Amino acid sequence: MSFKAPRGTRDILPSEIEKWQYVEGVLRKLCREYGYSEIRTPLFEETGLFARGVGEGTDIVEKEMYTFKDRAERSLTLRPECTASVVRSFLEHKLFNEPQPQKFYYIGPMFRYDRPQAGRYRQFHQFGVEAFGTSSPVLDTEVIAMSNDFFQRIGLDDLNLEINSVGCKFCRPAYNQLVLDYYKNKLEKLCTDCHIRYERNPLRILDCKNEKCLSLVQDAPSLADNLCEECATHFSSVLSFLDSLNIRYSVNHRLVRGLDYYTKTAFEFVSAELGAQSSLGGGGRYDNLVEICGGPPTPGVGVAMGLERVILALDKRGFDPSLYRDKRVFVALAGDDKLQHEGLLITQELRRAGISAELDFMGRSLKSQMKFAGKNNFSLVIILGEKELKEKAVLLRDMQNGEQEEIKRSKLIDKIKEKLKRQGKTTEEA
Ligand SMILES: [Zn+2]
Ligand SMILES: [Zn+2]
Repeated sequence: MSFKAPRGTRDILPSEIEKWQYVEGVLRKLCREYGYSEIRTPLFEETGLFARGVGEGTDIVEKEMYTFKDRAERSLTLRPECTASVVRSFLEHKLFNEPQPQKFYYIGPMFRYDRPQAGRYRQFHQFGVEAFGTSSPVLDTEVIAMSNDFFQRIGLDDLNLEINSVGCKFCRPAYNQLVLDYYKNKLEKLCTDCHIRYERNPLRILDCKNEKCLSLVQDAPSLADNLCEECATHFSSVLSFLDSLNIRYSVNHRLVRGLDYYTKTAFEFVSAELGAQSSLGGGGRYDNLVEICGGPPTPGVGVAMGLERVILALDKRGFDPSLYRDKRVFVALAGDDKLQHEGLLITQELRRAGISAELDFMGRSLKSQMKFAGKNNFSLVIILGEKELKEKAVLLRDMQNGEQEEIKRSKLIDKIKEKLKRQGKTTEEA
C-alpha cells in the first residue's frame, strides 16, 4: 500500500522551505515595525462562527468548508479564513476593553474544499493582519501601506493596487436596490451563478468574471456615485493619505471582493503575471463584523494574502533564496575514524559560536566529501587529517574562491567569522 498527500494538499520539502522562511521572516519583521502582534487561534472552530462571520450564502460557507462532527456530535469546521477566528478571540478575551487599536497578525494554514489548480490548494497558507478599534482612515492606509511595503521588500514591486469603497449599512441598501432595478430586465443575460447572486447579494454580480456578465456591468450604476457623505469622505481621505505616501493605486469601482463583511474601503493587490490567480492579497474595512459576531460595535480593518501565490510570483521572477541562506561550514575528515572525536569537538565549538556547522557521518573519501559540500552549498569546509590533528591545526577551504590555508585551532573561530562576514550577509535579519 502506498499513501499520498490528500488531493489539494502538498508537502513543502526542505528544498522549497527556504523561500517560505524568507517570506515569513520579512512578514514578521514588518509586523514588528508596524506594531502588529502575532495571534494564534485554533485550526478549527464551531461551524456557526463561520456561518455568521464569513456570511451565509458566500461560496466559502456554501460550498467550500471542511465541516465535520467530533465524537461528541459538535459541528466543527477547519478555518477557511482567519478573520472570523480573530474576531472571536477578540471578543472571547474582551480585548475591546484594552487600549485601542488592537493590532494582530497571523500566519498559517487555511482549508477550503476548492478545485485544486496552480497556486490554489485545499490546504493553503495565509498571512493577514486585523486591526480593531478605530474608524480612522489612517488605519486603512496603514494596513495598505504595510502590504505595499511587503511586496516591495520581496521584489514584487510592480503589482497593481486596486481600491474601492463598498459603502456602509446606510448607503449600501439603496445602492443594492439600484443594482436590482438595473438587472431586473436583464436576468436572462446573466450567468447561472449571477442568478443566485441576484437573489442573495446583487453587488457580487459586479465582480463576476463571466463574459456575459462583464458586458452588462459597463452601464450598471456605480457605487461611487451613490456613497453617503461619510463613506465618500472616508474614501477620499484614504486616497489622499496614499497619495502623500506616494503609493500608487487605481480606483476600481467594480471591486467588491468575495466576502460580504466589507464596508467602506476594499482593496486588492493584483499581479499581471499570474493569470487567473492574479490576486496576491486584499482586504478592507469591516465596521460591522464584530457586532455581527456578537460583540459591541467595533470598527476594524484587515488584509489577507495567499502565500502560495506570493511564492509562485517570486518563482516567476527567478527568485534565488540562496542569497538569503545561512552561511554554513562543513567539517570533512581526511583519515580514519579516530578523527571523529576531534571533528565532533570542532563542530560543536562552531555551533556554540553561532555558526551553522555539519560533520561528515558517512565515512566517505575526502574527494566525495568535498563534492557533497559543493553540491549542498556549504560556504567553507574545514579539512581535518592526521597531520593537522598532530599540529593542532586544520585546513580551511573557501568554497567561493577555492582558496585553502592552514589555520591554528586556537584561531579557528575568529578566522571563520571573519571569512563568513566577507562572503556576505546571513539571514539573521529575519
Ligand atoms: Zn455609507
Ligand atoms: Zn455572472
